[in-house]
Amino acid sequence: MIAVEGYAAQSAKAPLAPWSFERRDVGPKDVLIDIAFCGVCHSDIHQARDEWGGSRFPMVPGHEIVGHVTAIGSQVDQFKVGDRAGVGCFVDSCRVCVNCKADLEQFCVKGMSGTYNGFEQDKVTPTFGGYSTRIVVDQKYVLHLPEQLELAAVAPLLCAGITTWSPLRHWNIGKGHKVGIVGLGGLGHMGVKFASAFGAETWVLTTSPGKADDAARLGAVGVVVSKDAADMEKHAGSFDFLLSTISAPYDINAYLGLLKVDGTMVTVGAPERPLDLHLFSLIMGRKSIGGSLIGGIKETQEMLDYCGEHGIVSDVEVIPAEKINEAYERMLKSDVRYRFSIDLKSMAA
Ligand code: NAP
Ligand code: ZN
Ligand code: ZN
Repeated sequence: MIAVEGYAAQSAKAPLAPWSFERRDVGPKDVLIDIAFCGVCHSDIHQARDEWGGSRFPMVPGHEIVGHVTAIGSQVDQFKVGDRAGVGCFVDSCRVCVNCKADLEQFCVKGMSGTYNGFEQDKVTPTFGGYSTRIVVDQKYVLHLPEQLELAAVAPLLCAGITTWSPLRHWNIGKGHKVGIVGLGGLGHMGVKFASAFGAETWVLTTSPGKADDAARLGAVGVVVSKDAADMEKHAGSFDFLLSTISAPYDINAYLGLLKVDGTMVTVGAPERPLDLHLFSLIMGRKSIGGSLIGGIKETQEMLDYCGEHGIVSDVEVIPAEKINEAYERMLKSDVRYRFSIDLKSMAA
């Protein structure tokens, strides 16, 4: 077994604290990655505090993992020692179901193995995530990272990046669309970068008027302050597409009023409680709502390659692991610009 240092929650009420644990030895198809940085996703908070239910403890969160390969198994042919490598939200899946075969492993019929708070495919061995010094993963679930981009800022692409990329691509967003990214946090700021890179007229819908300058810098043409009824009214019936990244319960009907006839609102934000949807919000205008979950390995690699070609990374605030509880509190106050990235090299040292 391989000894690893990490930060774990021992229960839903406990703050994260240092924890030592073990990972499996490097198998024939595995790579061992020394983790350099791990992004901090709001899903880490939801799960560490058991807001979605079913959390398992101890929990080592973290699914925006980047680092370098330090060992490979005898059959590994996609990576060599010294390569940059990334791991996102899952580390395995059944590989044979209809969705795995369609490169949609996130929807594996038998259940993907979440990078943490889940199980390996044996359904008994718990998985532990990237707030840690090292990880062992089958090469099939490991991503290649662009060489030229700063690693700390690449980490959030593994979840925040692919989670916003995938629906924008699936719904063919681009030139000629008026798009609203709802919530300017970790996911939202990547959504703005991608939607504007794809040529859409991109707006930010925010509860934080102070983020307007950043929204413009990230590629938005303007912001709509969602708490300001007059500002919302100005944009009524004008959006082709809205992508919601809101992490807490909210009035979805207010946003549906912003869509044009035949407009679509997709949510990736996953608040802990159901929303109160008035069906007239959809009926009046033949509108649709949808959801989206991260993305498959193939699509994640396409997104990373695109980011390499276009110089797209996340805006990060690098923190040492011991600042993680403080980072959670700041995220809950929407005070993140725009992703915390934990420096794990300092922990390993
Ligand atoms: P984050 O960095 O904390 O950003 C969330 C943003 O939502 C905040 O910065 C804030 O933006 C806005 N917001 C927060 N509370 C709000 C409220 N009550 N009403 C309106 N807006 C509010 O979180 P994140 O990491 O981007 O994650 C966002 C959500 O996506 C979480 O629920 C997370 O679990 C989920 N998620 C889903 C997937 C998926 O595959 N579907 C993947 C990753 C994460 P403003 O200050 O601009 O208002
Ligand atoms: Zn995430
Ligand atoms: Zn499957």
